[in-house]
Amino acid sequence: ELNKEQLKEMMKSVAKRIVEAEPYLTEIDLKIGDGDHGTGMKRGFLAVERMLETFYPRSCEEVFQAVGTCLLDTMGGASGVLFGTVFISGIVKREERDTFSLKDFAEVFFTSLASLKKRGKAKVGDKTMVDALEPAVLALKEGSEDGLDLTEGLQKAAEAAKKGMEYTKTIKARFGRAKYFGEKAIGLQDAGATSVYIIFQAMADFVK
Ligand code: ADP
Ligand code: MG
Ligand code: MG
Repeated sequence: ELNKEQLKEMMKSVAKRIVEAEPYLTEIDLKIGDGDHGTGMKRGFLAVERMLETFYPRSCEEVFQAVGTCLLDTMGGASGVLFGTVFISGIVKREERDTFSLKDFAEVFFTSLASLKKRGKAKVGDKTMVDALEPAVLALKEGSEDGLDLTEGLQKAAEAAKKGMEYTKTIKARFGRAKYFGEKAIGLQDAGATSVYIIFQAMADFVK
């Protein structure tokens, strides 16, 4: 379990990893999109880092709420909404948990995944962030049902996200600019799925 202060520190380390990955994310989105994914994510997560410096959460829910709102406010565009959704839409504000277990992570991200899919209309196999997020969330859920601890569960989720990210190289795209690549998209990795993997790997490494 993590308490709300530790959850905040976890989100800081997630933000740092995304900011550091900006050149890599840019390179990926340049090959198959418009090249702005890295800078968008960097802008959003730099703002998250700055916001968290002076943020004293009253609950774990508030940490996710603040991170997601910050992304929505600073990233702009479609992916600001999509990544904002990942952090915000799974929380139930009135729950106000002091600590977060694997079961809590599984619950929150399971609901977020459903919202993301509803909002963006993408399913697994469409070459989007859903290809990394869905297997990661299912791994959290399975891990929680199997009684894994948070460290083991997040590690499994990161591994599943990585597989999903790699799977995006093997398929054509049905969304965004990548759609117009047709067969030429084969061999190229999806940028949003890469960001999802980085987020889950950073969360797993934080509790290692
Ligand atoms: P943009 O495509 O507006 O330039 P970004 O480059 O920041 O935005 O993000 C692109 C990523 O957004 C894609 O790699 C993909 O993973 C994700 N994405 C795009 N459309 C959708 C959608 N409808 N549902 C889920 N994810 C999507
Ligand atoms: Mg782009
Ligand atoms: Mg763009």
